[in-house]
Amino acid sequence: MSRIIKEIVKEMTLEEKAGLCSGLDFWNTKAIERLGIPSIMMTDGPHGLRKQVGDTDHLGINKSVPSTCFPSAAGLACSWDKEMVAKVGEAIGEECQVENVAIVLGPGANIKRSPLCGRNFEYFSEDPYLSSHLSANFIKGVQSQGVGTSLKHFAVNNQEYKRMSIDAVVDERTLREIYLASFEVAVKDAQPWTVMAAYNKVNGDYCSENEKLLTDILKGEWGFEGLVVSDWGAVNERDVGLAAGLELEMPSSGGMGDNKIIEAVSSGRLSEAVLDQAVERILHVVFKAVENKRQNAVYSKEDHHDLAREAAKESMVLLKNEGNILPIKEVESIAVIGAFAKSPRYQGGGSSHINPTKVDNIYEEIAQVAGNQTTLTYSKGYNLESDEINESLIDEAVEAAKQAKVAVIFAGLPERYESEGFDRKHLNIPENHRELIEAVAEVQSNVIVVLNNGAPIEMPWLEKVKAVLEGYLGGQALGGAIADLLFGLASPSGKLAETFPKKLVHNPSYLNFPGDGETVEYREGIFVGYRHYDTRDVEPLFPFGFGLSYTSFEYSNLHVTKKQIKDNETITVSVQVKNTGDMAGKEIVQLYVSDVESNIPRPLKELKGFEKVFLRPGEVRTASFQLDKRAFAYYNVKLKDWHVETGAFEILIGKSSREILLKETINVESTVTIQKVLTRNSTFGELIEHPNGAEIMKAMGQAQFDGESSLGAGMQEMILGTTLHNASVMSNGVFTEEMLHGILQTVNNSNQP
Ligand code: BGC
Repeated sequence: MSRIIKEIVKEMTLEEKAGLCSGLDFWNTKAIERLGIPSIMMTDGPHGLRKQVGDTDHLGINKSVPSTCFPSAAGLACSWDKEMVAKVGEAIGEECQVENVAIVLGPGANIKRSPLCGRNFEYFSEDPYLSSHLSANFIKGVQSQGVGTSLKHFAVNNQEYKRMSIDAVVDERTLREIYLASFEVAVKDAQPWTVMAAYNKVNGDYCSENEKLLTDILKGEWGFEGLVVSDWGAVNERDVGLAAGLELEMPSSGGMGDNKIIEAVSSGRLSEAVLDQAVERILHVVFKAVENKRQNAVYSKEDHHDLAREAAKESMVLLKNEGNILPIKEVESIAVIGAFAKSPRYQGGGSSHINPTKVDNIYEEIAQVAGNQTTLTYSKGYNLESDEINESLIDEAVEAAKQAKVAVIFAGLPERYESEGFDRKHLNIPENHRELIEAVAEVQSNVIVVLNNGAPIEMPWLEKVKAVLEGYLGGQALGGAIADLLFGLASPSGKLAETFPKKLVHNPSYLNFPGDGETVEYREGIFVGYRHYDTRDVEPLFPFGFGLSYTSFEYSNLHVTKKQIKDNETITVSVQVKNTGDMAGKEIVQLYVSDVESNIPRPLKELKGFEKVFLRPGEVRTASFQLDKRAFAYYNVKLKDWHVETGAFEILIGKSSREILLKETINVESTVTIQKVLTRNSTFGELIEHPNGAEIMKAMGQAQFDGESSLGAGMQEMILGTTLHNASVMSNGVFTEEMLHGILQTVNNSNQP
């Protein structure tokens, strides 16, 4: 294929080549009939298809063809289920085949830096390991159907406020360890056909013209083979973007971008070879789509609805279950309360907003599962359209709750609270939802709250209710999933993919979100999510990785294949999990790594493995994990590479980031020695740390540093902090410049291999 593509490119005129680098319209690439180049279509996602056949837009305003609405990423991530995520991807791929869509625009791998980001429902996690692995599985699922994906929004696009112009200022280590790591595995392991360049700037350059991101890292370091497409309208200067590695501008800019490319090539500002390469990458994707197109593809709407129900069931998180009120046992009467029960909030707003094939009515699903023996009542409790407390709706709900044995309240965030395009300002639910919960809890001791929201909320009412089921935005089949979980047809098995803080002010980005309108400084650095809460011991409302079950699990026999390794070796960690309860269930086993002693700030622990296991009562299974260098490494800015500090590391196995059950210590030895080049402004401390430094110090008669010093520790520290140059100046001619240079020469020459 490569050869044929090269031939085609040779045949193309400059105008044709420039033209192919932008869309025909909102969703299609251009065809060039005389050369047999077809047009292909891409549409939003990523939680289902948003294929528009009439009026087009990138904000989810106009209608699209019906498609299955799966749980949105924030919820799906809580399944921690790679296979389930891949299955959802496959189903979306099948629907793309039927709808003649070549590329679905997703998944979104942006990190949840702040719970306020309006688009967090579209993203997986605050943790790059989890986010990147789930993204990879989604991509593999879609692409297994011969349909491409667009991993978005590359990169550091973590807020909606000024999303098209804000400059995200982030240091290199944080960029690598958190924000890029969230894309890295997805690119390396799953090779998405396309990556979408975000609107914002990173450290001064628009993502769409950021050579470091698009060319050096994405294509150079990670080996990305596909094409980079702009987010819709994200191109700043088209020719600069092309030179930086942005192949395709979407949607059409009416020839504006194409003309800039033509002018840049004609004037010699841009090499035609760069344009040729871009066209080649575009053609590879176009022809791949054509080759993989299945004629007369079909899919079963019912099967996909069932899959959406399974996915939702795997994703919901049981946050509280006092006195094991759940699952609901045979009760005579249940008061179902809250307008969401009949008009569910099941998906997010903006470009991912899809037109579902059908939507479960939660109340009806509950009625079906509860059966005839249970009397159900429904009270609206609040009006969907406003936050205003409606006393008569609340009174009605309170009355119904009084009459019933159990009250199930549906509450959360309405669409006006969170969407693409704007961020939240607080973590409150609407006043009328809060008031409803509190009023019902006054008269009914058995209150179960089911939440539908795309991101964390504060829960000042938590103590007053017995159970909370976090349903996120569960997709079109959320009703069936909620009913199954409430009545124990399945045990909840989701765990939080993000921390729920007690208060917004506890979030590490609180003081620096969303920035001053021009820039947003990522001052919390690598301490994002649980990396902050756990390291600084800030108690969250619910920690990362947390979720309850109707059954119980016991962990034992943590085993590590080797306890002493070099950083280029891989080890296998295994642990046994037993279902000690009397119901079948799934457990998400989490593996964290902690650097016991480090010279640089590191998070207390970092997720480096996870596995979801299904266990019948009494059953035991082994979860195993492979750990390689990256599990222990941090990004060393000077080396421009991942580096392991020689020493002890703890391998922690837990049920959440805060509930570690087993641990084992191993030693990892670095195969890279970092040798510093010393200068006259280096300190005695740095000199002594150098392999030859201690000898030289001794030779200089500085015996006080050989461990038997009579100097106090504070004084020693002061001397070790003195620069060689300062010592020379202050020595009154005893320690001459020549001597200083001699030392530097000896030390630095010994650096040479
Ligand atoms: C969004 C993208 C989306 C595109 C096309 C943009 O506004 O940021 O996520 O894929 O529109 O609708």
